[in-house]
Amino acid sequence: MAMPSDLEISRHTVLRSLDRVATDLGIGDHLVEPYGRNVAKISLDAIPERDHATRAKYVVVTSITPTPLGEGKTTTTVGLGQAFHYLDKRAVIAIRQPSLGPTFGIKGGAAGGGYAQVAPMESLNLHLTGDIHAVTSAHNLLAAMLDNHLHKGNALGIDPQSITWRRVLDSNDRDLRQIVTGLGGRADGIPRQSGFDITAASEVMAILALATSLQDLRERLGRIVVGYDYDGRPVTAEQLKAAGAMCVLLREALKPNLMQTLEQSPVLVHCGPFGNIAHGNSSIVADRIGIRGSDYLITEAGFGADMGAERFFNIKCRTSGMVPDAAVIVVTVRALKAHSGRHHVAAGRPLPEELLAENPDDVLAGAANLRKQIENIRMHGVTPVVAINAFPGDHASERQAIVDVAADEGVPVATSTHFTEGGKGSVELAEAVEEACATSSDFRFLYGDNLPLADKIERIARQVYGADGVDISPTAARQLSTYVSCGFGTLPVCIAKTHLSLSADPARKGAPTGWRLPVREVRASAGAGFIYAICGEMRTMPGLSSSPAAEQIDIDSAGQIVGLS
Ligand code: ADP
Ligand code: MG
Repeated sequence: MAMPSDLEISRHTVLRSLDRVATDLGIGDHLVEPYGRNVAKISLDAIPERDHATRAKYVVVTSITPTPLGEGKTTTTVGLGQAFHYLDKRAVIAIRQPSLGPTFGIKGGAAGGGYAQVAPMESLNLHLTGDIHAVTSAHNLLAAMLDNHLHKGNALGIDPQSITWRRVLDSNDRDLRQIVTGLGGRADGIPRQSGFDITAASEVMAILALATSLQDLRERLGRIVVGYDYDGRPVTAEQLKAAGAMCVLLREALKPNLMQTLEQSPVLVHCGPFGNIAHGNSSIVADRIGIRGSDYLITEAGFGADMGAERFFNIKCRTSGMVPDAAVIVVTVRALKAHSGRHHVAAGRPLPEELLAENPDDVLAGAANLRKQIENIRMHGVTPVVAINAFPGDHASERQAIVDVAADEGVPVATSTHFTEGGKGSVELAEAVEEACATSSDFRFLYGDNLPLADKIERIARQVYGADGVDISPTAARQLSTYVSCGFGTLPVCIAKTHLSLSADPARKGAPTGWRLPVREVRASAGAGFIYAICGEMRTMPGLSSSPAAEQIDIDSAGQIVGLS
């Protein structure tokens, strides 16, 4: 029998009152702020109030280098939360809020899938409590105040050519990538080339995700650099007197959103920064709330372990001061076959026939990627666990090949069937995670704050990506020395490269060697608190495909949403 759609499964699930879900986390009614029937915000008072409650084990879910299809980190995160609940353990999961871009674009929703979902999936995938719109408003308020400053005489002496602050919108809209603003007459502003990014790429989103409190949010917003004056000094949102009003717009958005899994266990959904030009992790405040009063806090980091997990360790944990206990590396048979380099997998296309045929040798060839990602977790002193996310087309010999590789690496491994069975399909994984968390963590950062910026980039490239070295362009070298003189030299770095390869070339699968990381440009997210190095073409405003997911989405005669996947 065919499985019902994600939307049908979600809609036919009985949900609990959120007060009861919060009580499981030790969060009292007075801290729960309902937004409709099935979503609530949690007051930030929950942080100081529960400071002495038991500390949960902190688990990050990451993966091998993904294919364009996604390998199931979100479904596995949800499945794991459901499995602990099934085992009568208290576990909360923390995930990002999906952008409307992928929901209406190519990937569909991001609530998990099958019998491992966050519910109601329509709420999660469509607006939720409006946090992303608040980010859009705050970002664009700063853009408007900046242009107004130029128009009203430019007292700060901002060089219009140096302005990096663009506008944002939560929609895939390629026609807005490059625009000219201020057209019209003298009263209509100063013409300037600019453009739109998708809201997930806004520095304000990264700031919201990394802020540790409302005061910290206010200060980070003030530190945003919008451009430079004619003497080359950075101009900030504080100088434009915009940061206070931006913070006011974001005060509700800073509170995490409480939802539940299909099996009624707690979920905190909060923030969704990009995974290439930003750190790609859900918020610190959600984790600060989730870490108290339960047994496990399970959070998903974007893309593969070289990307999201590396930033989880070196940016998010560095900022929050929180220490992870274990990392789950999600792997699929089909992705490892793709990593053999013998198959081509493309987004929006059916899987090639020969990729589905039984072939454990391809799995073993592609496992070079898994081995490298295991090393990437271990170099941070964190205990890895391999989760085989089971797909219906897997062959037993192929799953066995993964089990053999994990055994060879000395890493616990479990097959997880949460997609078809819900929490009880992830029990073996939950037990492996429990065991991994029982060993003491020896967590360490990859680099110290004081290592020079170029060396930080090189360390990530060589140790995490397996590069032979880094080629820094003259422009990037100039930018690095500017950032050092601006006082940004002690910030961590985020490397904006493709997520589809350990290297900077999306076509190179497995664990490529004999290559160098080309750094074209370096930019500062001074408010968020990291420098990012651009290696390759990074799209910060996606376009729609020739058949966007939006074409399938509609309202039926009963007023119900159809076609959301
Ligand atoms: P990620 O978080 O790694 O991007 P997701 O959990 O969002 O991945 O899953 C990507 C897509 O694959 C989703 O459409 C999801 O429903 C589907 N998927 C994930 N795991 C399975 C599985 N075990 N069987 C079938 N489909 C799956
Ligand atoms: Mg995901």
